[in-house]
Amino acid sequence: MSKWINKDLFNDFKKEKIEEKDTSGGGFIRSNLLWETPDKGTVEQPKMYEGRFVPDPKGKFYKKYYYHFWQSGESWTFVLCPKTGEPSDFKNFCPFCAATAKLYNGTSQDKSHAYQLKRKERHVANFWVGKDPRDEDRDPEKKVVGKIKVYEFPSQVEKKLKNEVTDSSEGYGYQIFDPSEEGRNFILKVLSTKKMEDGRTWPDYSSSTFSRTQGALGSDEEIEALMKTCTDLEEYINSMETPKEKQVEILKNEFLWELVETECLKHDYKDLEADGEKKEEPKEEKEEPKEEKEEPKEEKEDVPWDTGEKEVKKEVKKEVKKEKKAEKPNDEILDDDLLAELDAM
Ligand SMILES: [Zn+2]
Repeated sequence: MSKWINKDLFNDFKKEKIEEKDTSGGGFIRSNLLWETPDKGTVEQPKMYEGRFVPDPKGKFYKKYYYHFWQSGESWTFVLCPKTGEPSDFKNFCPFCAATAKLYNGTSQDKSHAYQLKRKERHVANFWVGKDPRDEDRDPEKKVVGKIKVYEFPSQVEKKLKNEVTDSSEGYGYQIFDPSEEGRNFILKVLSTKKMEDGRTWPDYSSSTFSRTQGALGSDEEIEALMKTCTDLEEYINSMETPKEKQVEILKNEFLWELVETECLKHDYKDLEADGEKKEEPKEEKEEPKEEKEEPKEEKEDVPWDTGEKEVKKEVKKEVKKEKKAEKPNDEILDDDLLAELDAM
């Protein structure tokens, strides 16, 4: 193990990954720090990228965050789910998760709303970009090959890393994060799934692998300089946080505030407007004159969500059995369903 890998941190991380359940989720892209999400090829011909995952300045390997991301009218709303953080933070209260859980128990329109609103997950790491064919068309200052960028990746990619970390006999272990001559590149092959019923396709990362050969990213001095450009993952995730006041505003705009108001107030959320004006009658008509929300037509990143009727119906059946299991909607199951569907195609 080279000096670039903190053995204790790696072992802790390994333990955390072993204990963690396999989950899957969707995606979203953020700022300039980011490595632009790789494009997908065709069903048979992948687009190819290559690079090395490296630890952040605190020695952390990669992190998971949860978020809510949905289309509301013309625009998209992003909220970092307060359940993001160390595994123990999962107990944190999130009004959007709470609203999702309640909507699941409602009418079919509510369920559809819940499906849009539900928590998704994403992983983030520092990634040295070795090959990116898109560089050919980039202006010199925008080129990324040879640089370390933040890579936000979906669960399908995370499974590849996790497998190397957790498989003690066959896995490459820390080598997948080591910039030294012991390290191994990640060879990213992005295929496209076949068309879904609604005509949409998703990226398929399943053919991606870690390189069989090892190699350093440069001389010791070069690596030293490179590693200084890594982004602190915790800070990065924290920077996406949505302040509580803003969350309340979003909840109100989405007509969700009344649904979760009581719980919110218990968890230190404040309704700043409530002081000034008279509180609305609790019995007031709850049904909002909601317009039919249009499904996202454009393909957003690799967000494997789908508001199609099929999924919603499936969800209805499952939820009937699971009624009152409120706080934890089974979005994992839903996503797994979708992935299984993709696999079967
Ligand atoms: Zn949440």
